[in-house]
Amino acid sequence: MDASFSAKDQGDRVDAGGCQNGIPVPGGVYLCQVSETISCGACCGLYNVADASRPALEAMLSRRTERFSRLPRQMDAILSFGERTAAAEGHPRPYPDFHHCPYLGLIGEKGTRVGCLLHPLADGNHGVDFRGLSYYGGMACRIYFCPATHRLPGRYKAVLRRVFDNWYDYGLVVTERHLVAALMAEVERRLGRPLDPEGLSRRPMHTAALATLLTIKQDWPFRDPIQGHLCHDLFQDDGSGRAPAGSGPRDFYTVVFQELESVLDNDERVAAARAMVDRRIAATVSTLAA
Ligand code: SF4
Ligand code: SF4
Repeated sequence: MDASFSAKDQGDRVDAGGCQNGIPVPGGVYLCQVSETISCGACCGLYNVADASRPALEAMLSRRTERFSRLPRQMDAILSFGERTAAAEGHPRPYPDFHHCPYLGLIGEKGTRVGCLLHPLADGNHGVDFRGLSYYGGMACRIYFCPATHRLPGRYKAVLRRVFDNWYDYGLVVTERHLVAALMAEVERRLGRPLDPEGLSRRPMHTAALATLLTIKQDWPFRDPIQGHLCHDLFQDDGSGRAPAGSGPRDFYTVVFQELESVLDNDERVAAARAMVDRRIAATVSTLAA
């Protein structure tokens, strides 16, 4: 991992100048912490565990959070917690070079979203920032923003912030900028107009339709059973970690297939994969057009 850092700030407000806690957010749309239930820990390696299913991650984070709550906030105790946790949980990691931070836990009043247990606002830290004890160090944890934050158009980021009802689904897709951009652009093309993030808050059917489309990664039956994984190594943003799923020009389908780590080694599979994507796009467009 090149940029060797990761970001979490627990508040969800971006000020009029596009800053979050004084740090400029690229494009002015903050994706890391959105609401009581929506947040992301992907760049901290959240999904880089052997079992990245929702029940497994919830159990892992809940266990950690509970153990951390009883920990004295002393350097030795925190470091030892990190070492023991990292050694015990989540192995084998799908991407051995992508750090999984043992200080990810559940935060918020009711522990309803993922976040950083070392953050000054996290329970029991009394305003002290312990992120300097992490692998990436405090500064990196504060200022890093992923390629999706930097490169996705603002309206797509605003749509992402509105459509999910839980941190698990949100964090799995929020870093997938190529997939998100391809799917949203195709929906817009077939709709004949840009997506309207503001309008979504008034239309639960629309948010549900987009959420169903964007969770395509979770039930994609053509994923490579050996190389593919729910975890996205977002530090390989140039696509070098994902083999092209075909040899043709990089059109909408080839982008989607590649980003979903598909194995499409015969014409029947290609046709079935295209049909599945088309069905999901058509269902979304039909709901949004109603
Ligand atoms: S992956 Fe991106 S959105 Fe998620 S926490 Fe990191 S910087 Fe924020
Ligand atoms: S300390 Fe760990 S969980 Fe916290 S922001 Fe840094 S990498 Fe993420």
